[in-house]
Amino acid sequence: MGSVLFEISISHRDRLNISVLSVRCPSCESNDDRVIDSRSCEEGSAIRRRRECTQCLNRFTTFERIDDYVCTIEKRSGSREAFSRDKIIAGVLAAAKNRPVELHQIEELASEIEESIRELNQPVSSQAIGVRVLEKLREIDDVASVRFSSVYNDFSDASDFEREVDLLSRE
Ligand SMILES: [Zn+2]
Repeated sequence: MGSVLFEISISHRDRLNISVLSVRCPSCESNDDRVIDSRSCEEGSAIRRRRECTQCLNRFTTFERIDDYVCTIEKRSGSREAFSRDKIIAGVLAAAKNRPVELHQIEELASEIEESIRELNQPVSSQAIGVRVLEKLREIDDVASVRFSSVYNDFSDASDFEREVDLLSRE
C-alpha cells in the first residue's frame, strides 16, 4: 500500500466544495474515498489530505494547491500567513464606518493592492500592505485613512489587528 502524491489545482470558488472533489484511487481506480486527515500547508496556499479508498482501503495523499493564492504575508511577530483580500476589506470597512465611502471603492482598493503584490511574486510584510492601504485610502477619505493609520501603526500581529478592528467597529 504505497502513498501516492497527486497535485490538484483548485480555484478559490471551488474551495468551499473541496470535500466533494473526487479523486481516483491509484490502486483500484475507484473514485470513492474518504478523507482521513486534512491540513493546510505552505502558509495556507495548499491543502494536504490523507485519503482512504473505500473499496480497497489503499491510503494515498492529495496535495491541493489553491489557484488564486496571491502571496505570503510576513507579520511583525515573524509568523506568516496567506494574503487575504477579505482582511483588508474588513479593516478598511471598520476605519470607514460612518464616512462617505462606498463598498465598491473599498473592494477596488483591495483588488488594486492584490494585483500590485501579486506582481511582486515574493513575501510581503504586513507593514508594507498597511502602507499601501493607507496611501489608497487617503485618496478616498482622509478621516478613514487617519483612523486606519492609528490602528495600523501599532498592531503587531493578526490578533492585535482583529482586536483593533473590533474596537473601531464599536465606536
Ligand atoms: Zn482503491
